[in-house]
Amino acid sequence: MPVAVVRCESYEREEVFAAVGRALEAIGGLGRLPKGTVLIKPNLLTPSKPESAVCTHPEVVRAVVRHLKRAGFTDILVGDSPGFGSARGVARTAGILDVCREEGVRLVEFDTVVEATLPRGREVRRLPMARVALEADCIINLAKLKTHSLTGFTGGVKNLFGCVPGRNKATLHLRLRHPRHLSAMFLDLYDLLRPSLTLMDGVVAMEGPGPRNGSPRPLGFILASPDALAVDSVACGIIGLDPFRVWTNQLGAARGLGTVDLREIEVAGDLGPGTAAERLKEVTVHDFRQAPSPSALSRNLVGFASELFHRHLALRPEIRDDRCKACGVCADHCPPEAITMGELASIDHGRCVLCYCCQELCPYDAVELEAPPLARLLSRRGRVDRRANQN
Ligand code: SF4
Ligand code: SF4
Repeated sequence: MPVAVVRCESYEREEVFAAVGRALEAIGGLGRLPKGTVLIKPNLLTPSKPESAVCTHPEVVRAVVRHLKRAGFTDILVGDSPGFGSARGVARTAGILDVCREEGVRLVEFDTVVEATLPRGREVRRLPMARVALEADCIINLAKLKTHSLTGFTGGVKNLFGCVPGRNKATLHLRLRHPRHLSAMFLDLYDLLRPSLTLMDGVVAMEGPGPRNGSPRPLGFILASPDALAVDSVACGIIGLDPFRVWTNQLGAARGLGTVDLREIEVAGDLGPGTAAERLKEVTVHDFRQAPSPSALSRNLVGFASELFHRHLALRPEIRDDRCKACGVCADHCPPEAITMGELASIDHGRCVLCYCCQELCPYDAVELEAPPLARLLSRRGRVDRRANQN
């Protein structure tokens, strides 16, 4: 099955509808999806306006809902478990609640949790999961193309982490401290849920210190395929990032969960037929600002060396006192409770597990990731990352 790559230059309603239609057509349409309840799983990370490029754009959600209805689906749900707050609250700010109301589909909270068994799990064998995600007949994984300070990139595979409800995510961050282990768990989750389709909103992506505090970057693409790893890899190709530098891609390819090598991925749609390696040459955005990710630096290290790197050379969160509003969100969501609140937030670096949840969730962009002195000495890249983070 190819990856559909279609052009979409704006979020104008008709243009998005047409682009999503071309993408679906290029991969055989919606007719092959299992009948019954469809769960659309957008990225609802935090309450953010559509123009911030944090969440999947509401017009992409609308277009998918309309195409599903056209294909005869009647039981359509939209749901996620955000980083903080309720799905309803995030969807309201993100413009998705209005879309649900206007299109007559139900927005669901992931508040009923069941313990799922993962017989094929490599990193985890049990996971707390949203019941609705397990019980849906079909999942449409509606990802946003963004950088990610911990994992380098977030797309289709990582989007499914939202099916682990609420604070269970923090517990997993505490248990699986190295991005490689966390990514292996994301793959277990992907293998369990196997969405029927992953569609990625790359009309306006996020670059720099994503997934929340980066900058919107217009790319003008929508991608789609049943193979989320192939979608993620093509997205990496478009932003000039080697797909194999992303843990979920590297580990997922080794486990046979999808296709990652751009020479082996066929693309269809607006770029014409051919392999992704051939077709992306003309559209790759070479100046796309990558995340200041420690993960990318340690990619070629294995085992203990990689653990040591992560502990001593990875970027550290620092509170910017001039921006901190003492809202307490970071302290509430820090898995090892390494943040204390006084007049402002303060981090106990001895307890910090470098999960970057504070940087991801701070509503005021008051947490920055900085290279420790040793990393600055040893790595030219450390200086580049620090600069990127200050922009
Ligand atoms: S979330 Fe941000 S603004 Fe709120 S206390 Fe933490 S650092 Fe300060
Ligand atoms: S201080 Fe930030 S990066 Fe460190 S453990 Fe807490 S949330 Fe994670």
